[in-house]
Amino acid sequence: MPISDAKVLTGRQKPMTEVAMLFAEVTTEHGLVGLGFSYSKRAGGPAQFAHAREVAPVLVGEDPNDIARLWTKLVWAGASVGRSGAATQAIAALDNALWDLKGKRAGLSLSKLLGAHHDSVRCYNTSGGFLHTPIGGVLDNATRSIEAGLGGIKIKVGQPDGALDLARVKALREHVGDDFPIMVDANQQWDRATAIRMGRALEEFDLVWIEEPLDAYDAVGHADLAARLDTPIASGEMLTSVREHKELIDARSVDIVQPDAPRIGGITQFMRLLALADEAGLDLAPHFAMELHVHLASTYPRQPWVEHFEWLEPLFNERIQIADGRMIVPSAAGIGLTLSDRVTGWTVADDLVTE
Ligand SMILES: [Mg+2]
Repeated sequence: MPISDAKVLTGRQKPMTEVAMLFAEVTTEHGLVGLGFSYSKRAGGPAQFAHAREVAPVLVGEDPNDIARLWTKLVWAGASVGRSGAATQAIAALDNALWDLKGKRAGLSLSKLLGAHHDSVRCYNTSGGFLHTPIGGVLDNATRSIEAGLGGIKIKVGQPDGALDLARVKALREHVGDDFPIMVDANQQWDRATAIRMGRALEEFDLVWIEEPLDAYDAVGHADLAARLDTPIASGEMLTSVREHKELIDARSVDIVQPDAPRIGGITQFMRLLALADEAGLDLAPHFAMELHVHLASTYPRQPWVEHFEWLEPLFNERIQIADGRMIVPSAAGIGLTLSDRVTGWTVADDLVTE
């Protein structure tokens, strides 16, 4: 079913109908295989694939343990197209595969390999309240989320008529009660004046956060909003490098960082960002790809939130267990994922890098 958030209602994007996945398998001379992935929505899949094909050969013959050095080698191999965006996202699939391989060699889950703070992490239903879903459907989704053991629910806002957003949030709050965590996501579609007005109107609903109230790169606008509202401000999913995130962190733009490991270059970069976010005293709620982020969030000293998206489940044989509002961090070695049989039919195979 086509998916619509505020970017669709303001005419900036078409409804989303598919997610392009880039998988990378790295095989050692002893036959161990690391599996990593990256992804893109709407556009960018072919670009990631093409870039990965060009830079992946620099890994051949290397020691796969030296992941930090190999990340640098990969980024320099494609340096003329920059250190963010599709190029970095292509590298993310390779970086994630190297980390998966390292976990398998160590016999440790990614969480344990990196150093865990938590065996489980808070989780919320992120797909219960898209804007194409009538409010009745949103309330049904909320009921099902609670029954499934999810710890919160996020709904989309940012419609041209803000009164409609407020009515949906009010109905949801009344439906789930005062104590159940609710978040809202405006997908960057408010201007500064609208964001402050809507933010003030939303304060009474005691939201966990307001997500992407403004353009993803508006550090000053976010900082002003964060200072003026009691409700925490969350952003960062659209950013494609640690450096872009650092601008928001330095400007005190957000209370909650929302990095996406595939988008910022993979696990190596994500862990650098977590160090910066923790030093700044920020909370963490990674974006998308819960299968990977459940591990990464478990290494954060504070209590993170991981968003529950069932969208990638057809790709993998494994399922994340959920209980009492939390995801259990998987214990299988590495990222702990194997591709389902269904993936074969959706795959464009490419074994160019075999020497
Ligand atoms: Mg979002």
